[in-house]
Amino acid sequence: MIGKIAVMKQPGQIEFQEYDIPAPKPGSIITKVLCSNVCGSELHIWCGHHPKKSGGLGHETVGLVHQIGEGVLTDNAGAAIKVGDRIAATYFIACQRCPSCLSGKLNLCENAYSFWAKQPEEAPHFHTTFSTHYYIHPGQFFYKVPDNVPDKLAAGANCALSQVYYGIDLSEITTQDTLVIQGAGGLGIYAIALAKRKGVSVIVIDADKNRLELAKEFGADHVIDMREHQTKDDRIQAVKALTNGRGADVCLEVAGVPEAFAEGLELVRSGGKFVTMGNVTPGKTIAIDPGYITRSQITIIPVMRYQPVYLYKALKFLSENIEKLPFHKILDTEYSLEDVELALSDSMSRKVTRASIVMK
Ligand SMILES: [Zn+2]
Ligand SMILES: [Zn+2]
Repeated sequence: MIGKIAVMKQPGQIEFQEYDIPAPKPGSIITKVLCSNVCGSELHIWCGHHPKKSGGLGHETVGLVHQIGEGVLTDNAGAAIKVGDRIAATYFIACQRCPSCLSGKLNLCENAYSFWAKQPEEAPHFHTTFSTHYYIHPGQFFYKVPDNVPDKLAAGANCALSQVYYGIDLSEITTQDTLVIQGAGGLGIYAIALAKRKGVSVIVIDADKNRLELAKEFGADHVIDMREHQTKDDRIQAVKALTNGRGADVCLEVAGVPEAFAEGLELVRSGGKFVTMGNVTPGKTIAIDPGYITRSQITIIPVMRYQPVYLYKALKFLSENIEKLPFHKILDTEYSLEDVELALSDSMSRKVTRASIVMK
């Protein structure tokens, strides 16, 4: 049996390659991909702003169990697994043997991308998810997807939702607190949903009218439109006006630009927390004021990937809230595998919010 993989030969250029579907090694699983979403990090790769300059693309995915390697009897929550089950896996490996894993920080595994980074020529070929099949290795935690969670939503659970969920938990934000979110893309919208469930008051900053509308639909208490509050000082004042002149208890940066990092520090009250996960490209710098950080004693919490169990929590969260929130509006457009290039360019130009590659 032959499978097909979308391969980026160089930034901005896709070709397709075909390989025999390999038999899974002990502890591994091969899935038949149902759906795979275009994530911001694919766009970084696609336009050459990422260390990965060629190879397969895609990491947010849901698939059907196609073949099971020896020894795999259950998912990581203990549910029995059989061919045909719908599962989602972490997009990274937690080897549970490296110093980071052994210190309990599975999200910082030193072997996280040992397969994802490989070229498709190298067996077992199906390292990425813009493809008909996907190879899940030992060390990739995977979970059965609840029946009421649609494919497109389940596909995004292993990245945006799990990561935001982990970040919000790390902030220890609680009822009565105020959270300001910089950016109302997919991560920002998920953050609103998670924070509102905790009874937190939420302020969202973005420059896009549609995104701010969606933010309100997900329960944002206040939105700050950057087209009306054009300067950093305007926005700081707007947040202070909504927080008794103090600033938010926690700020979450999911905007992905260094300017948002510098600004976010000043949106937080004295003793507050600043959680940052949008800025993922090293080498982009911005001036910050260390004296201000010391004097206001802000805790800065960077978030890289997530503890694998957060994928389980994320799927459960979607299942429990699917009827309550308009999740379908986060993922707006479907493309076929053959149209990966179009899906990437439409995402790049923001013609679509979040594109999904759906296998036929
Ligand atoms: Zn992603
Ligand atoms: Zn490890």
